[in-house]
Amino acid sequence: MTARILVVDDVPANVKLLEARLVAEYFDVLTAGDGHAALATCEKTPVDLVLLDIMMPGMDGFEVCERLKANSRTAHIPVVMITALDQPSDRVRGLKAGADDFLTKPVNDLQLMSRVKSLVRLKNVSDELRLRAQTAQTIGLQELARVDRPDEPGRVLLVDGRASSQERLTRALKPIADVAVISDPQAALFEAAESSFDLIIVNANFDDYDPLRLCSQLRSLERTRFIPILLVTEQGNDERIVRALELGVTDYIMRPVDPNELVARSLTQIRRKHCNDRLRASVQQTIELAVTDDLTGLHNRRYLENHLKLLIDRATTRGRPLSICITDIDRFKRVNDTYGHDAGDDVLREFANRVRATVRGADLACRFGGEEFVVVMPDTTPEMAAIVAERLRLAVESRGFDIPQAATVLNVTASLGIATLRPDGDTAEALLKRADMALYQAKNGGRNRVVAAAA
Ligand code: GH3
Ligand code: MG
Ligand code: MG
Repeated sequence: MTARILVVDDVPANVKLLEARLVAEYFDVLTAGDGHAALATCEKTPVDLVLLDIMMPGMDGFEVCERLKANSRTAHIPVVMITALDQPSDRVRGLKAGADDFLTKPVNDLQLMSRVKSLVRLKNVSDELRLRAQTAQTIGLQELARVDRPDEPGRVLLVDGRASSQERLTRALKPIADVAVISDPQAALFEAAESSFDLIIVNANFDDYDPLRLCSQLRSLERTRFIPILLVTEQGNDERIVRALELGVTDYIMRPVDPNELVARSLTQIRRKHCNDRLRASVQQTIELAVTDDLTGLHNRRYLENHLKLLIDRATTRGRPLSICITDIDRFKRVNDTYGHDAGDDVLREFANRVRATVRGADLACRFGGEEFVVVMPDTTPEMAAIVAERLRLAVESRGFDIPQAATVLNVTASLGIATLRPDGDTAEALLKRADMALYQAKNGGRNRVVAAAA
């Protein structure tokens, strides 16, 4: 993971110290000695994370943070405040100023790295989302373009062996999450796999159970592997923490738990989970949009051309038959010319519905272009294909098409050509070509009929 981190502190020795540690982990480090310099750097260079000292002459860390979060160009940059251990009130002020996380002085290496990595990961996914949102906006997909949604409450599973801490942690999380509590770690594994949580908090306080076992099991189950885990652990047990992070625990927090720190850490993880979920959904949606025909909702030509190749490969290796049918609406131009383009669109939509209703679930129906549709039928012999095509022809001819604008019902017919895959080295192009020739014969033969290509 590489990222550009801005270290802001008025004491040059502090800056040097943090810089050296981050550079050792291959981060790209920028530095600033006061708040104004920090704001200027964030304005003119892309920064992935700001480590911000609070006590600085002139503009203090709270104000720097507030200004960063108030500027739309810098609001998305995560800010980690560096607070003094004996000033817990600083954390509350930091949260109010919009800080994403805290570190206490003197900064512990492990804490520094786990926090920095956690926030950089979150920034990576949210950057990707913002980028896609821009593209979506450019091409007019408003639904995909909405990124700046308010935080939805997170769903948290708290696995905690003690009633007293269950109660305390639940109370702290209440403003940001719906918390389900469970005492038995093995039952927790099932619960996590059954429901959908945004974060699992594991309090390492069981009498005779190793909490890292649960963490490792959560990481190996398909249904839970992407849920962030926050481990609550003892002070001064760095080796265990390193082990936990290696196992895939996302972040940790030390006892006694500071409620503000718990909220900040949990919020980071919940946001990242939500961002990831949205990213996945947007990929899914983009794929669907790219392969779907707008007007009819059937697959489009691009999808057909790619998928037909796969279906042919599969039929060939398995030695199974495969047939296709191309159908073209008869004299469709007249519909447009007589009733207008919108009426033509109504006919196309209804035609697509009838295609959908006629074919089996395993068949692939798509709009090939204009008023031409293709149905690919796996495991279908020429004889069966002829029956299906005839059924489709009848489904079109037998019932009129409603044209609401013209308050009329139109008689529509279609011509159909079918072709079947040849057993040796047939291609998608050749197959489509043969079906198209058969369609041409159907048109020439007087329309409203099915013609099969010679085998
Ligand atoms: P044939 O029986 O020989 O197929 O005659 P036809 O009139 O159906 O064939 P032709 O290819 O001459 O005309 C097809 C028409 O389909 C022309 C075009 O304007 C229309 N068309 C293509 N796409 C759309 C569309 O998305 N909506 C509408 N309303 N019309 C379309
Ligand atoms: Mg036509
Ligand atoms: Mg045509």
